[in-house]
Amino acid sequence: MIELVNVHFSYNNREVLRGISLKINDEEVFGILGPNGAGKSTLIMHLNGILKPKMGKVIVNGIEVNKNPKEVRKIVGIVFQDPNDQLFSPKVFDDVAFGPYNLGLRERELEERVEKALRLVGMEGYKNRETKELSFGEKKRVAIATVLAMEPEILVFDEPFANLDFRGKKMLRELIEKFRGEKTIILSSHEAEYLTLCDRIALLDGGKVIKVGSPEEILGNA
Ligand code: ADP
Ligand code: ADP
Repeated sequence: MIELVNVHFSYNNREVLRGISLKINDEEVFGILGPNGAGKSTLIMHLNGILKPKMGKVIVNGIEVNKNPKEVRKIVGIVFQDPNDQLFSPKVFDDVAFGPYNLGLRERELEERVEKALRLVGMEGYKNRETKELSFGEKKRVAIATVLAMEPEILVFDEPFANLDFRGKKMLRELIEKFRGEKTIILSSHEAEYLTLCDRIALLDGGKVIKVGSPEEILGNA
C-alpha cells in the first residue's frame, strides 16, 4: 500500500503540493487527474524518493520512502512522461538491461528479462537498434520496457497516453489490463477519457486533492 500523509512540496519557495493525503491500495488501478501544472508529476516523483517532501511523508509497503529510497525503488517503477528522461544507452538492449543488471541479473537470465519486457510493449526485435534512431512512440515503449524489466510491484505512469498514436494507446491499455489484479498501477492524465479504466481517481488541482472516487463519481463532475 502507498500512503501519502500531508505531503507538502515547493520549488524555490513556490508551493506546488499543498498537503496531499492519499491511500492507494494494493493491486488498485489508480488515476491522478488534473490540469497542467496541478502537481501530478511532482506528486509522482515523491513515490520513489526522487523528490522529498518538505513536510509530511510517503510510505510504501510500510517503508518511509525517504528513509530507504533504495529499497523503495525496487518496489516502485516510474515511467516518466518524456522517454528521453529514461533512456541513456546507445542501444535499446542496454537501456532495458540497465535496471535488471543492477538487480544482479546476468547473461541468459538478463537476456530473457530484456526480451520479455520488450515483448510486453510490442518491441521484440528492436534490442539491437540504436535508441536515438527510434520514433517518439517507439522510445516511449522502450522507456516502459526499462521499467517492466525490473518487475516492480507498483507501476507508475506519468501521462502515459500523451503523444502516443492509436497503436501505442492500445498497447498501453492492454498492458494495464494484463497487470490488473496483479500489480498496483498508478497513472496520471490531464484528460479524463484515459482514466475511465481506473478503479479510483484522485482529482488534483493547485497542489491539492480535490476529491477521490470512482470514475463515475469523479468524471461525472470533473
Ligand atoms: P504535464 O505533466 O502536465 O504534462 P509537465 O510535468 O511536463 O506537464 O510540466 C508541467 C509544467 O511544469 C510545465 O509548464 C513545464 O514547463 C513546467 N516544468 C517542468 N519541468 C520544469 C523544470 N525543470 N523547471 C521549470 N518548469 C518546469
Ligand atoms: P503536472 O504534472 O500536473 O503538470 P507538475 O508537477 O509538473 O504538474 O508541476 C507543478 C508546478 O510545479 C507547475 O507550476 C510547474 O511549473 C512547477 N514545476 C515543475 N517542475 C519544476 C521545477 N523543476 N522547477 C520549478 N518549478 C517546477
